[in-house]
Amino acid sequence: MFWARLGSLNALELVAQSRFWKSWLGQSVCSADTIGRVHSLLDAGQLRQGIHHIYDCLKRNKALPDTHGIGVAILDGHESHASYRRHCPGCLQRTIKTEQGDRIQYYHRQVTLLLVPGAPPSRKPLRLLLDHEPQRDGEDEVTTALRLLDRVIPAYPRAFDLVLADGLYATAPFFNFLLARRKHALAVLKDERRNLFQDVAGLFIHMPPQRGSYGSRECLWWDFPERTSWPQVAAPVRVVRSLETYSVRRQLDGTRSLQTSDWIWVTTLPFPQVPTARIVALGHQRWDIENHGFNELVNGWHADHVFKHEPNAMECFLLIAFLAYNIFHAFIALNLKPQIRRGATQAFWASLMAAEIYKEVLPTSMSP
Ligand SMILES: [Zn+2]
Repeated sequence: MFWARLGSLNALELVAQSRFWKSWLGQSVCSADTIGRVHSLLDAGQLRQGIHHIYDCLKRNKALPDTHGIGVAILDGHESHASYRRHCPGCLQRTIKTEQGDRIQYYHRQVTLLLVPGAPPSRKPLRLLLDHEPQRDGEDEVTTALRLLDRVIPAYPRAFDLVLADGLYATAPFFNFLLARRKHALAVLKDERRNLFQDVAGLFIHMPPQRGSYGSRECLWWDFPERTSWPQVAAPVRVVRSLETYSVRRQLDGTRSLQTSDWIWVTTLPFPQVPTARIVALGHQRWDIENHGFNELVNGWHADHVFKHEPNAMECFLLIAFLAYNIFHAFIALNLKPQIRRGATQAFWASLMAAEIYKEVLPTSMSP
């Protein structure tokens, strides 16, 4: 269902007649109801072992190299759907102010960890969705993330050295948790009320920046290692700011105008072993989980669809989507010859798989 991007259990049931299943599974496909019910009874831990098995095979085949000696993973929360009507014991809830008064909205959120290895010159990096953890009612996202890391780090002790995250994660519990496990953290720093922010903001005015570049962007960089103005964290932290200028073409009249963006990151990565330019690149790499993770899962894989509204089923369907994503990308990157891979989009391979299922749907006697 995920590989052929069918999008729902009903769509799968519509092609249950296909002879493809007999040859592929050795039996026919069970009903949509049964698939939903089975997912609510599946052991999520065993699906996680399945993902780990894929990781082990790829690691053994040296398909997941570090980038410049650092293994990188990205952490972020994602909301999968929201509803006023249907809810289950795993739903989170919030009050939404509407014209008809306050209404309770139900939704699900989870925190995902994406491994972002380097890549040999011949192909793109092979990103792996390692695990996710559902957020529970009444807890904040960082608490969910720590429960996820508490499971992932012992299971994958050498998979990554650094965790990238957005501004929400610039908290002492998150940084201390990683420091205690000999991992590094890098998060966006944006809360202007904080001592650390005010400490470095004073330095920006007095210290001349260094010039640098990120892609086509011209940058001014400030790099302040060993800051002790965040005493809640068990080690001094480093703050890097990148003021970036780039030109954008206006869609309306085609003229170009200059835009700037101003980034500040806080990290435990050491100075000068990890140069400023690398910190800036890593800071921007955090977007990989949006661009190559959630966007693709939602738009390409229909992973936000509620296949069965039951907590364990939702957890397991998403883990199956992760498995499908990881195997699909590993197949494209490692099994296809470069000349076959070149020019063919992901959608092409998904359509090819769907075609194989659909073409066997009609019995020969009914064929036009
Ligand atoms: Zn629910």
